[in-house]
Amino acid sequence: MSIKEFPELSAEQESELVESLLHWCLGNGLVMYPPNFSNCSANNAPITLFPTPMPRNSFKNAEDVQKIFNELYINLVSKEREWLIKELRELSKYDSDFTGKLFEIYEEVTSNGQVPQPLSLGLFRSDYMIHNETNEIKQIEFNTVSVSFGGLSTKVGELHNYLNSSGFYDSKYSNVYYEGQEIPISNSINELAQGLADGNYFYNNQSENKDTVVLFVVQPQERNCFDQRHIEFSLLKNHGIKSYRLTLEEIESKVTTNSNKLYIKSTMDEVSVVYYRAGYSPDDYEHNPQSTWNSRLILEKSLAIKCPSILTQLSGAKKIQQLLTKKEIVEKLLPTVSQEDLKKLMSTFVSIYPLDDSEEGKIAQKLAFEVPERFVLKPQREGGGNNIYKEEIPSFLEKLDKSDWGAYILMELINPPSYKNKIIRNNEVYNENIISELGVFGSILFNEANGEIYTNKNAGWLLRSKFSSSNEGGVAAGFGCVDNIYLY
Ligand code: ADP
Ligand code: MG
Repeated sequence: MSIKEFPELSAEQESELVESLLHWCLGNGLVMYPPNFSNCSANNAPITLFPTPMPRNSFKNAEDVQKIFNELYINLVSKEREWLIKELRELSKYDSDFTGKLFEIYEEVTSNGQVPQPLSLGLFRSDYMIHNETNEIKQIEFNTVSVSFGGLSTKVGELHNYLNSSGFYDSKYSNVYYEGQEIPISNSINELAQGLADGNYFYNNQSENKDTVVLFVVQPQERNCFDQRHIEFSLLKNHGIKSYRLTLEEIESKVTTNSNKLYIKSTMDEVSVVYYRAGYSPDDYEHNPQSTWNSRLILEKSLAIKCPSILTQLSGAKKIQQLLTKKEIVEKLLPTVSQEDLKKLMSTFVSIYPLDDSEEGKIAQKLAFEVPERFVLKPQREGGGNNIYKEEIPSFLEKLDKSDWGAYILMELINPPSYKNKIIRNNEVYNENIISELGVFGSILFNEANGEIYTNKNAGWLLRSKFSSSNEGGVAAGFGCVDNIYLY
């Protein structure tokens, strides 16, 4: 199929489109708080004016591998735990203040040989870029904690459909520009809420108990709170399940436990699922570390189902991602996978190297200095803004003690196609080349102790785009925006 060009609108038509778009965003919660906000005023989230083209087949492949990826990671956590723990112990040496501390909590709560709550919930997101020449999807990273934008993704799909059906994409105002199936809407709000409801259901011995609640652990002054709120609204509306929001610092004073069950102190509502939308980065524990780390410990010791459990969170480390690109390891973790599925999964990997003193590490050290323009260097961090790109790699490594290089991985850069879409941020429209990253959500409920899987599902998708001139794509950080797919 050939690709439709982006709609061509006159300046007047574009300004009418922008007005409607802004009204839709504010009317439907496609919003974010600005920096230094007061509670009563939000802005339109940074988004694209039009959906961005994506080959139908590439999208399908990304959807098809999601459940296999979900299973790969939870099998690692539940069935090859000893191996994972050995690797995490190594990692902790490089990163004692964060990975090390999380790992210490894991050891403390399992000191009697068991996790307090074997049931475990994963709400994951696997991120890809499309390789320019082959249209193959190539994985950027697999996220196991605090995956965001499932809320706003549904909204941006609805917005683009609204603009299309209202005729704003048609220069004659009379026709739809895209056919219905060309711009699908991600059902991630409801699917992620369904994941949390699954957690609540299994916590209550497979019954639909509406008296237990979900605790959202959030960052203070969260500018992206509406993304999370949409999931909370769906959880209440579709499942009758209430939710609470507390920061790590508030946990100590606002929750209580009784026989290891976790309760919200003010109401004595019992918490079935602790959903972390904070706690994935050292920054989250920087302010008042004693209290925030103790809060984490309180939650981990409790019987509430954690989304994710500490081991599941740590299985998303960049170092583990590097190890999981090896075929023999994937085969071991997925003993019953079909050859076809294995091939699909393996085809999403680009080369990722360790930078330690193994043979492979030595090759990578050479590559990093000889052809840095082909690579991105990643530390063990989540949340954007931490990577070192291309020509900056050699001088960065030179400044480090060589014994610390092992904490990094070296990843081949993916070269996606670029498009001339338009981005709106606040009131300003930018007309630049953009590149996009597709995220596919998954939800999985499993038993961490014996590896049994109760639910394993796809949970919608997200397209994020950024100026092709920028290396990183953080939306809240101001580098990127939320987009939607136009399938061709
Ligand atoms: P984080 O945990 O900080 O989100 P990522 O691995 O997702 O780290 O990297 C952040 C961003 O850097 C990605 O969203 C993407 O824009 C860019 N990036 C990362 N790896 C690659 C790669 N291999 N090729 C091209 N861009 C990449
Ligand atoms: Mg990322």
